[in-house]
Amino acid sequence: MRKPIIAGNWKMYKTFDEAVDFVEEIQQDIPSPDKVDAVICAPALYLPTLVVASEDSSLAIGAQNMHYENEGAFTGEISPVMLANINVDYVILGHSERREMFNETDEAINKKIRAALSQGIVPIICCGETLEEREAEQTEAKVARQITKALEGFAPIEVEHMVIAYEPIWAIGTGKTATAQDANVVCCAIRLAIETLYGKDTARKVRIQYGGSVKPENIKELLAQEHIDGALVGGASLDPASFMKLLEAA
Ligand code: 13P
Repeated sequence: MRKPIIAGNWKMYKTFDEAVDFVEEIQQDIPSPDKVDAVICAPALYLPTLVVASEDSSLAIGAQNMHYENEGAFTGEISPVMLANINVDYVILGHSERREMFNETDEAINKKIRAALSQGIVPIICCGETLEEREAEQTEAKVARQITKALEGFAPIEVEHMVIAYEPIWAIGTGKTATAQDANVVCCAIRLAIETLYGKDTARKVRIQYGGSVKPENIKELLAQEHIDGALVGGASLDPASFMKLLEAA
């Protein structure tokens, strides 16, 4: 069975002190790593401190983006080597906010995934449709296309360790969640796209999260679905009590 993975995406929220207080408050209460993988993806500036603050617990720390080159003249960017060097375990790649506002392409995301794996960092690869695409019944084709492009050219053993996050753009930060059944249908389509590329065995092992207005009230139903193996959570990951409830539901 696939182990659930609950990841908080803090986006551009919290001061440094708030971030450290959060991790110190929850770290002793993180459920056993046999039951659930718990991750906080924090602003890059806080990562080294949070990695140290969470050292004695099973809470993992992730970044929200990175460049695909290991070094170079890329003002303002952070590299995979830099993240690995401070023991960051995960990186969110291809979030819809980065695709939309920072012009991130499928090709760049593919390069970033390769770069993350080469440094032993687990990529959380995001995909999802707009409301217009959903209404035009293009959801499954859109996510299959995004995932096919993102996962082009890897070995099955590499794909097994990746995490995919299905985040319908219309559900992000809006309070509107896809129904658990609808989310499951799309996560199933993602698994089928992986199967087409890498075979049944690999597709069966990849963990697929749902993201978009996940909260303590709806997480149980989402996680009960066959193809949903966790959640990528924005707003509800900012409050320690709420994040703990999400972990406890897994
Ligand atoms: P919300 O949980 O705030 O809707 O954000 C979802 C998201 O974008 C996580 O990456």
